[in-house]
Amino acid sequence: LYTAPGSTQPPPEGPDVLYFFNYDDLQPRANHLLRDAGDGLRLLDPDHDIVCEIISGDSATMDLLSDNIHDPEVLPRTLELAATCHVPENLAELNNMSISTLMNALHRRYAEQRIYTYVGDILIAVNPYERLPIYTHHLQEQYKDAATKDLPPHIFAVADRAYNAMVLNKRDQTFVISGESGAGKTESTKLVVKHIVELCRSGNTTLENKIKMVNPFLEAFGNAKTVMNDNSSRFGKYLELKFDETGGVLGGEMLHYLLEKSRVVTRNAGEHNFHIFYNLFAGAQLEGRNDHFAFSSPNSHRYLAGGPSDDEILHGHRYTTEWREVIESMHYVGFASADMNCVWDLLAAILHLGDVTFADIGNDASKITSSDDILKRVARLLAINETNLRKALLHVVQHTRGETIIKNFTDEKAVDNRDSMAKAIYTRIFDWVFRVVNELLDEEHASGAHTLGMLDIFGFENFKVNSLEQLCINVTNEQLQNYFNRHIFIMEQDEYNAEGIDCSRIDFPDNQPTLDLMLQKGTGVFGICDEQANFPKATDLTFTQKCTAGLSNHASQSYKAPRSERDLKFTISHYAGPVDYTTEGFLEKNRDKISEDVKQLLHNSSHSLLAAMFEEDPSRAPVPGTMRKQPTVLMGFKRSLQDLVKRLDACEPHFIRCIKPNATQKPANWDAELVERQLTYAGVLETIKIRKRFKLVKYQFYEEPEESPQTCHEIAESAQLDNFQLGSNKIFMKYHHAEVLSKEASKQ
Ligand code: ATP
Ligand code: MG
Repeated sequence: LYTAPGSTQPPPEGPDVLYFFNYDDLQPRANHLLRDAGDGLRLLDPDHDIVCEIISGDSATMDLLSDNIHDPEVLPRTLELAATCHVPENLAELNNMSISTLMNALHRRYAEQRIYTYVGDILIAVNPYERLPIYTHHLQEQYKDAATKDLPPHIFAVADRAYNAMVLNKRDQTFVISGESGAGKTESTKLVVKHIVELCRSGNTTLENKIKMVNPFLEAFGNAKTVMNDNSSRFGKYLELKFDETGGVLGGEMLHYLLEKSRVVTRNAGEHNFHIFYNLFAGAQLEGRNDHFAFSSPNSHRYLAGGPSDDEILHGHRYTTEWREVIESMHYVGFASADMNCVWDLLAAILHLGDVTFADIGNDASKITSSDDILKRVARLLAINETNLRKALLHVVQHTRGETIIKNFTDEKAVDNRDSMAKAIYTRIFDWVFRVVNELLDEEHASGAHTLGMLDIFGFENFKVNSLEQLCINVTNEQLQNYFNRHIFIMEQDEYNAEGIDCSRIDFPDNQPTLDLMLQKGTGVFGICDEQANFPKATDLTFTQKCTAGLSNHASQSYKAPRSERDLKFTISHYAGPVDYTTEGFLEKNRDKISEDVKQLLHNSSHSLLAAMFEEDPSRAPVPGTMRKQPTVLMGFKRSLQDLVKRLDACEPHFIRCIKPNATQKPANWDAELVERQLTYAGVLETIKIRKRFKLVKYQFYEEPEESPQTCHEIAESAQLDNFQLGSNKIFMKYHHAEVLSKEASKQ
């Protein structure tokens, strides 16, 4: 903080902070002016009444200060410069941007619990991992019409900007919230919803409250503890709110993507099943319904083993409280009690189903070895016929060319079939929950004037072993990065046009070829996988070989073949780095078939809800008269991705980039390496690079050249840039020009 000579303002109390200086470097050279002030230095010049606090910082600014610290002529200006280096709230304003200054600035702000920072138009949100008093009603009031006020960066300000843009400019808006697992996407989405609801309070409070109330139960069904995040969303979500002309909310629609259904039956060490299962146990205990569900101890069920301890589930606070919240919120939103009770039965049935075991009896057949009681429970809770259940668990009946063949399962196949059944029931419950929510949030079927969307989607994944699930997740992220690029590009392009610049000269980091590699019709990775999934003789190996044959020379250069042609592997170079995919199981996962007998069995349930869940989905049925191509997971995924892009394309986006400060999920803990990696992936630095200042290339730091096209021209000439263009208000350069200028600036 800098107080100018002659200022009547008293120096501020306490360590208001000037940034950017390095204690150790500065101290020896300017000893008489410096006094240790705890966490930094206090710089005093009694003659000029100058006071500033110095912490640490980048060496360029540091050198500047130490060179000039004894010169009374330039010292005030130097300090003023330093003062402007106080970590700004929009980092695009920083003079000398490098990854280290960006990191320093974010770290400094994080240490002061200022978790929000703008980088140009993007909001960076660093997860504080503690409740901060920054979401109060009072603050929400302050952030109304934030654009007209000088307020620190905040997610409420972004929400306010989007809402106003929708109402005033009559354009659909969307929030694209990205970041790794645990970075704070879901919490940010909730905060956006909270503020939007506050902004549009239009009298329809029930609907507004309902919109907020869907979270507790959606998280119970769709979230789980993982090694990355105790409350990790295991699905992607797009919430779209509809508004009338005046900004009153009319309804909402919620889409979901790629539920990680495998979690129901298996997961990595240290991870849990979906919260709802533990909640159900706690609830059954609380309401004395253990007998109805035939529950004993949670950990005695295979599908729950290795999660929280029985004591934690049954006697801890958490799961009981969550259970109450689930029930209350489902009721509030409008779920019928009878339906809810049916769902609890289905969940309990899934757990018992997991305890059915098999043994090989030779001839590629198996028998059930677990007690009959278990089967009885499953049949009772699913309201299906026990004998038919037994049959459907042991074999499948196939009808080919007028013949009926019973195909027995080996014990291995029987286990797969059992698990598929459990996963299918869970997935359909999840789909049903969304379907009902959408009906309840849009009871009037109102046709809104405008929409606000919020995308909370899984981040980029790169594990030791990456399978079809990771491929889908990463393609989603690739698509979002493409959206980001296109948006920035389009924005820039508009600007170029406005400035009368020839657009053909602009390079932009285009990942479209990589997307084509995946998605191009028929011949991309997805197309090949679909074609192979429909071809009975195909294997994961033939699929991999087809990919290699067709895509090794793809224009994107993003496909890398396996070392040996018998390897079940390939590598894709994504925007965020190369990922090795193991193709073992790709075809089976893509087919995602449950046996017709199981489907029929569940469709015949006397629980009408379960029966309805297993009605053939007409959109997945083959079109009559066409080749009977079985619908695949990738086809469905591609369709929903296209739908998402269409929706996003119709909107003006607001990018919120969530950053995870550490892997321990604890407050006040900064893992620089982890943060740097996330910033690099997100391309945050590139966004800033567009907005650097390079005065020092030609001028002394204390000189104040006029801000004119002429000055820009002189700076560019002085750095010997080729091919730049001057617009009427801006200078347009190539990416590499920024590097040249940075080098020149740092030489001065
Ligand atoms: P995933 O991809 O695994 O779903 P995510 O990005 O959605 O991760 P969140 O679940 O939103 O991550 O955040 C993880 C945890 O971090 C939260 O449960 C909460 O404890 C904490 N957290 C996130 N954002 C905030 C915030 N603004 N204030 C306080 N705590 C937060
Ligand atoms: Mg989440």
